[in-house]
Amino acid sequence: MSRSNLSPRSYRLTLALTGALCLAGAPRAAHAWGAAGHRIINQLAASTLPVSVPAFLRSPAAIDEITYLGPEPDRWRSPAEPELDAAQAPEHFIDLELADKFAPLPHKRFDFLAEVYAAHEDPTKIGLQPWQTDEVWERLKSAMRDYRHLKAEGQDTMPVEQAIIFYAGWLGHYVGDGSQPLHTTIEYNGWVGPNPHGYTTGHQIHYQFESVFVSANIHAPQVEADMTPVKAIQGDMFDAYMAYLRHTHTYVDEVYQLYKEGGFAGAGTPQSRQFTAQRLAFGASMLRDMIYTAWLDSAQPVPVPQYLKGK
Ligand SMILES: [Zn+2]
Ligand SMILES: [Zn+2]
Repeated sequence: MSRSNLSPRSYRLTLALTGALCLAGAPRAAHAWGAAGHRIINQLAASTLPVSVPAFLRSPAAIDEITYLGPEPDRWRSPAEPELDAAQAPEHFIDLELADKFAPLPHKRFDFLAEVYAAHEDPTKIGLQPWQTDEVWERLKSAMRDYRHLKAEGQDTMPVEQAIIFYAGWLGHYVGDGSQPLHTTIEYNGWVGPNPHGYTTGHQIHYQFESVFVSANIHAPQVEADMTPVKAIQGDMFDAYMAYLRHTHTYVDEVYQLYKEGGFAGAGTPQSRQFTAQRLAFGASMLRDMIYTAWLDSAQPVPVPQYLKGK
């Protein structure tokens, strides 16, 4: 059955079941920010791109598509597509406490996988967030480079414009996940290990914070107010993205503290609403800056491949 054949009622039931699966703790919750939060992040990033980015990517139709794509990789978590679900579930998170055993993290996915397997560990338990994000960002940059070539040659750019819009929206999902503190930690759904602050060990916090609380209380205007001014990201993108994840990770304790104070029940508190809007704004700002930087970097000459050097 396709999703469009689902009645609103059965669709709600599906969502409720999905939530129940997350609460059960396994399979691992991967619906960061729920659909509402992902849409807000993608919509705000696309609608605040600077005017030096081509107009097609800032058009109302492109913003609509990029917004729609915010939750797209969560749609791939369906048991109707079991192989896809299994392959991409680890791309939504990274447990930095576990990943840092392999620090400095290799930038190439298979180099990391080789190190993890050599240590007899399971990469699906550690997560593949930064590799997936960096690879999708590189797809976006590649398509933008092709757009520049086609434009310079006076050819039709409509097909590559469609690809760029898709990559930008797809990228947005992972950058959004990367602004959810509970997607960067072994403490992703109930505290494990020494617990001096008495944080919850139940399996409600993840879904309650990112889905129930966000969809009931957080709206685009309050998030947009917390966005940073646009900037080009300097240096290596993998390194910049790791710094972004590490910053997100510093808020893990605060999520638990706010939850303990009832901050994610009902309408929450001014503090919990502000905290959540700021985390979403951090994601939207990073996504906008990554799209902008892909555009700038797509003008750079392609490096000479190693095998051609010295010939
Ligand atoms: Zn999540
Ligand atoms: Zn996700």
